[in-house]
Order: sequence, then C-alpha cells, then structure tokens
Amino acid sequence: MATLAPRMATSEHNTPTPSAAGAEPTPPSEARPAVAAPPAAEAARPGRVKRGVPSGLWLRCDECKETVYRKDVERLMNVCPVCDRHMYLSARDRIRFMLDDGTFEEWDGDLRPGDPLQFVDKKPYAERIVQEQKRTGLTEAALTGCGMIRARRAAIGVTDSGFIMGSMGSVVGERLARLIERATAQDLPVIIVSGSGGGARMHEGILSLMQMAKVSAALARHHDAGGLFISVLTNPTMGGVAASFASLGDLVFAEPKALIGFAGPRTIKATIRVELPEGFQTSEFLLAHGYVDRIVRRADLKSELARAIDYCGK
Ligand SMILES: [Zn+2]
Repeated sequence: MATLAPRMATSEHNTPTPSAAGAEPTPPSEARPAVAAPPAAEAARPGRVKRGVPSGLWLRCDECKETVYRKDVERLMNVCPVCDRHMYLSARDRIRFMLDDGTFEEWDGDLRPGDPLQFVDKKPYAERIVQEQKRTGLTEAALTGCGMIRARRAAIGVTDSGFIMGSMGSVVGERLARLIERATAQDLPVIIVSGSGGGARMHEGILSLMQMAKVSAALARHHDAGGLFISVLTNPTMGGVAASFASLGDLVFAEPKALIGFAGPRTIKATIRVELPEGFQTSEFLLAHGYVDRIVRRADLKSELARAIDYCGK
C-alpha cells in the first residue's frame, strides 16, 4: 500500500484560484434518496401491521416528487422514469454501464490518501477517509483504469461525488495524471466522467490545489501528442474540478440538468448582487453559451462515446 508523495506540477499553472471546495457545492442528495412510505392504501389498511415493505423499495424523486419503484429507477441507470432526472450514480456503476462487460482493469488502486496536515475539522481527516472508504467501497474519490467501449479501448476515469463530495485530493489528482500519461504513451483516448461537488480538497491544503495544475499539464501533453480527451460532466461538477480538467475536453459532454460551475449560485449572487439568469449553471444553459458541446442522456452515453472516438479517428 503506497502512500502518495506530492509530485510537483510540470507546467506553468494558470488555473483560476479555487475557492474552498467550490464554495457551496450541492451534496448529491440523490445518493441517499428519501425513502418514501409505502403506498397509502397499503399503510392505511385496517388491522395491518406495518411491516414487510423492505426499506428503500420506493424512492422519491427530488425533482418531480413522484414516488417511484426503485427497480424501475435502477433499470434506467438511476434515471427517474417520470421526469428523466439523472440521479446520483456511483463510480463503479458508471463504469459497469459505460464499458463492455468485464473489460475494466483498474489502475493505481494501491495509491492511498495520506494526511499531510494532520487535518481536523468535525473529525480527524484520517478518520473521515476510513469512514468514506467503508461507506462507498472505494479507496478514493476517483476510479481510473482502462476498458473497452463497444470494442474500442480507452482510458477511463470517474470521480464519485459520494466520496467527500468527489473532491480532488492528492491521490485523485495523481490517479488522473497517471491515467492520462499512460493513455498518451499507449495512444488511447481519455474519457473522464466528473461528479465532483467539491473542488480541491481543503483537508490536504496546497497539495490538493496543485493537482489542478498537474492534471491540466498532463492533458496538455496528451493534446500535444495528438491524443483525444472527452470530458463528461455530471451533477454536480463544481470548484477546482470544473476549473481544471473537466473543462479541458476536446469534446465536453454533459448529462441533462447537471449543475456545473465554479462557485455556487448563492455565492455569486451575494458577491455581484445581480439576479442570475434563468437556468444559470445548468447543462442546458452552458450548451447555449458554448461551454458544453452536447447534452447526452445516460442511456446514450456509451454509443455517443464510441461514435466520438471513431469520428476523431482514435
Ligand atoms: Zn422525477
């Protein structure tokens, strides 16, 4: 088990100053969907003891407030069958849906986060890491490796907003930088799916900030070598992640209605004191303003990625 030593960035860094983890990131509330009560008729039946309904059989959609059958949601890759809201999807599930069966090979899974500042907020950072690892089954907020997308080999990275809000600590940055460097060496396209409500991870101080420059520099070298990078933005992509690799795609895809931005809307509104436009910081708004190239529904992502890889001749 290797503990990561900080690595210096190799290019001039000129990325925007990240605010504390994206200022007011939206936690992935869908990650722990409200468990709706069983349908009223069931619960209200006289003399019936309330039991036998496994918790979590039903979910309530945060968007349309409908109570929906969990299995229907899961069958649609965690998309609401009523309003098409794209809910939280874990990094592992995302890889499972995006890649051909059994083709994923994880890279750098042995890199584990350290605690260089001995940081303590509500609880010690070291303790927080262990808890998050247990809860999510991940060792860090980024999962990287290679696999096949409809028989096209690609380097894949996914950040998971369920793990300390998908924030970029040293290991997240290092895994992504190595992913890109290997892809450059092996002439593979890079696909990174971002789900990061937090930007740089403040628990690791400056070491997390420098990951923005490091990953961006690796992408610049990949670009110079003629490599393809497709960035896929999901809800939420904020802070230092949005301000670095997530915005640097040759192609930038976004899931419908994802929250994408740097500082949160409340912070911006309080700072510049103007009404923000309708739909500000959504995928649709950013598509209209040229920041996002295409909105891709989750069900279509695999085909769209394969098509883009072919189109770009990679
Ligand atoms: Zn819904």
